[in-house]
Amino acid sequence: MSATGISSVGLRGVARVVKSTLATEGGGFAVRRPFPTAALDLFDPFLLLDEMGPTESGPGEAHGAPDHPHRGFETVTYLLSGQMQHRDSAGNAGTLSPGDVQWMTAGSGVIHSEMPTPAFQQTGGRMHGFQLWVNLPARDKLMNPRYQDIPSEAIPVVTGHDDRVRVKVIAGESLGAKAVIETRTPILYLHVTLQPGGTLIQPVPSAYHTLAYVIHGTPQAGASLAGLTEGDLAIFDAQGDMVQLSLPADASGPADLLLIGGEPLNEPVARYGPFVMNTRAEIIQAVEDYKAGRFGQITGS
Ligand code: MN
Repeated sequence: MSATGISSVGLRGVARVVKSTLATEGGGFAVRRPFPTAALDLFDPFLLLDEMGPTESGPGEAHGAPDHPHRGFETVTYLLSGQMQHRDSAGNAGTLSPGDVQWMTAGSGVIHSEMPTPAFQQTGGRMHGFQLWVNLPARDKLMNPRYQDIPSEAIPVVTGHDDRVRVKVIAGESLGAKAVIETRTPILYLHVTLQPGGTLIQPVPSAYHTLAYVIHGTPQAGASLAGLTEGDLAIFDAQGDMVQLSLPADASGPADLLLIGGEPLNEPVARYGPFVMNTRAEIIQAVEDYKAGRFGQITGS
């Protein structure tokens, strides 16, 4: 296929760029949030994207999110710096270190805590990571909770042909490498690092809704090379089966992005805080079940 063939046939443009807002989550940690906000409610099948930090905390100052419930969707946590500890009412516990991913399917309901580890709390330091909420289809909303803890070394990292592109494949497939995580609906989740002059052309199924979030640097996205900066969320056009991310050769340093895509569910969304269902009646039921203790409790120490 010729270069012009690629750009006219399959390369998606950028439909919209959304700026992140600043918010405070859980026990008081600062997040940068491109959605949900007044500008962007959700991006089917994704319900929320938070960048946690980066923050520097002193000894005893680190914040987390103590015990709270979820029902009806999945939370995906990807840590770049710091140490987090997870515990939930389904009996799962784990530690997240830099580069690790935790993919939690709340399904019918869990109560969990997401806290800095005691060791991190003691020393303080840099905390930086992401949480993505992936909606579940109606048929899976009440499935048994599931938990996948993936250490960084198990997540494939691939380099493009010229070493100016590096991709960590959290979900889906890129540059011939396949993710190890199982998702309920087809999802692409890549951490892309570009050196100046680097370009990634990533195939995305034409049914996917696709976005790019800029962690760092000044990359360009889409057929028209829309310029982006830190905290920007680029939403790609619905048409086309490839997206392009690139970094100009004269950029002053590398760029890091998350490239995330998924098949939209096209189902009604009823959400109330940590519960995401299809109808208001199901939300009322979720609140009742939670209040009645039907989500269980975190046991052990
Ligand atoms: Mn949570």
